[in-house]
Amino acid sequence: MLYAWVAGVKRPPLAKGEKTVCRDCGSQLTAVIPVENVRHWRHKGKDCDPWSEPEGPWHLGWKEAFDVSCREIGLVDQVTGERHRADILCGGGTARATVVELQHSTISEDERNSREQFYQQAHRMFWLVHIHNEASFAGYNFRFSLDFQSRLFNLNGKKFAAMRWAGRSQQFIEKWKRATAHVFFEYEGHIFYLASPKVTSQLGVQLKRGEFALSYLTRDEFIRSVLWLE
Ligand SMILES: [Zn+2]
Repeated sequence: MLYAWVAGVKRPPLAKGEKTVCRDCGSQLTAVIPVENVRHWRHKGKDCDPWSEPEGPWHLGWKEAFDVSCREIGLVDQVTGERHRADILCGGGTARATVVELQHSTISEDERNSREQFYQQAHRMFWLVHIHNEASFAGYNFRFSLDFQSRLFNLNGKKFAAMRWAGRSQQFIEKWKRATAHVFFEYEGHIFYLASPKVTSQLGVQLKRGEFALSYLTRDEFIRSVLWLE
C-alpha cells in the first residue's frame, strides 16, 4: 500500500515510524521506508486486501501516471463483504469506471479469474502485465516472439500482428489469451494490447495454440485509453 490518508491528504509516508489509519478497514498503518525499495504503509495486522503483493518502482511509476484520486481505491463486494484495493480506478461511480490491475508477479489462472470476477462486477477492467525475467524467461521469450512483419491485420485503423510464442511452454500466453478483461503487456517500456477472442474474430484470424496477436501502443495512448480519451 503506497498511499494512505494523513490529516486529510492522501500520500506516501514521509518518515520512518509515521502512523495513520487505513480508511478501508480502520486498522493502524505504519510507515516503512526501505533503503532500496519504495516507501509504503504496512497494516498492523493483516492487510485488508488479501491480494496485496509487495510493490516496487514499477508499481509506483504506473500509479503516479494517474491522478492521486485514481490510485489504490478500496472496493467492497456488497454480497460477500470481500474487500480489495484496485491499483488504479479511474472514473469511479460513472459508466466509464475502469480498473487497471498492475501485475508484476506471476499469477495463477484461478487468481486471474477471481480478480476479473470481482472487478468486472461494476467496472471495465484492464490488466497491465509486466513482462520481465525475474521469475522466468518470459522477457526473452516475449522478445523473440515479437514479429510485426509476417502476419499483419488492420482493425478500425489499429494495426495488429499475429505471432507465435517463442518459449517451449505456452502456458503464459495461453493463460492471458483466456482472460475476460483486456490484457496489456509492458515490456521494457513498450506496451502491447493482446487481441481478445472478440478482436481476434474481428480480425478474421485463426490463432493456434501458442499463437497470439498484438497491437503496439505508446504509454500515453495506454493512459488515454484508460481514461476513454481514445
Ligand atoms: Zn486496510
